[in-house]
Amino acid sequence: MPFNLSLNEREAAGLKRSLPVIERVGGRQLWANGLAYLNFAGNDYLGLSQAPELRAAADAAAREFGVGAVASPLVVGHQAVHRTLESELADWLGLEAVMLFSSGFSANQAVIKSLLGKEHWLWQDRLNHASLQEAGALSPARMQRFAHNDMAALAAKLKPEAGLIVSEGVFSMDGDQGDWQGLAQLAEQSRNWLMIDDAHGLGVLGKAGRGTLSEQGIAAEQVQITMGTFGKALGVSGAFVGGSRALVDYLHNHARSYVYSTHLPPPQSAAILAAVRLVQQADDQRDRLRQLIRQFREGVAALPFALLPSATAIQPLIVGDENSTLALAARLRERGFWVGAIRPPTVPKGSARLRITLSAAHRSEDITALVGALTQAARQEQR
Ligand SMILES: *Cc1c(COP(=O)(O)O)cnc(C)c1O
Repeated sequence: MPFNLSLNEREAAGLKRSLPVIERVGGRQLWANGLAYLNFAGNDYLGLSQAPELRAAADAAAREFGVGAVASPLVVGHQAVHRTLESELADWLGLEAVMLFSSGFSANQAVIKSLLGKEHWLWQDRLNHASLQEAGALSPARMQRFAHNDMAALAAKLKPEAGLIVSEGVFSMDGDQGDWQGLAQLAEQSRNWLMIDDAHGLGVLGKAGRGTLSEQGIAAEQVQITMGTFGKALGVSGAFVGGSRALVDYLHNHARSYVYSTHLPPPQSAAILAAVRLVQQADDQRDRLRQLIRQFREGVAALPFALLPSATAIQPLIVGDENSTLALAARLRERGFWVGAIRPPTVPKGSARLRITLSAAHRSEDITALVGALTQAARQEQR
């Protein structure tokens, strides 16, 4: 056999992954194996995945336009609903032009692989998402990674007018924010371009949910490429890339994962459009989420896990060892709490963690119950 398909080593190291079947999932709860769990593993930070406005929009679009886009965007797949979504996104975020992708993974591949040639440099935060790291590795550009959020380390690597700096708004496994003042300053001084992946900041942070740049007082023009996803706080799935008209026109012509891929289904696009409208008015949900975050952090402060300096819905508890992390997650599951056990290679070795995510859909008593279960599970683990 030409391939080695054995997973024994991964299993022995506590690194084997398995695919759970979920019967139903929303921001607060999920059902699996015929049982109900409190869901602390999703990215539905505002609970929009279940919002009646989004369901109604998807329903109506399915009835009016059907369920498929029928073709790739440059053929006949790009419809009025897509154009409306692009222009409302651009208005909301202060971008000149926007284009849609079926996923954040493909959006990141598109930008990095079509923009950078072998004469370019690409500087990435060490904790950037796998889709960015992989795009960089596959692009012909010379890639350098800099220590997480370390502006001095980045400054030491930069070359003038030579390429692209990429970082995240909110880091997906740590929950902390990128230093966008520092990044914008370094990019401007060195005349390099800057790209933000704001998958976890969009909808949650900033004025009217505009994301991390708004939260940190950075003007949209200081960042040449903005990427965001619809599968986290917006509650649907898909992604966009925004920037200048010239950038978007260039990507329409060169981005292979755009040109050679069926466009987003109309019901999905209509649901995203409803989410974009709703999220701008969602200050109450954002306030609620902030309250729940505060309650959680106070509740777990005394537990024997490192709590990362995160002010966002992503609240990881660092356990360290892979098997202990799995055991803790299993104990929580027995008690009716579903949390993610995140292990290498998703996070650096020795930093396996419970990735706990909060949603405005949670109730205060859900947080109280989770903190109680974590306290008990930690006690058992210490014995
Ligand atoms: C989830 C995520 C992506 C990928 O987006 P999908 O739409 O799920 O493919 C990209 N970047 C970051 C930081 C993410 O968290």
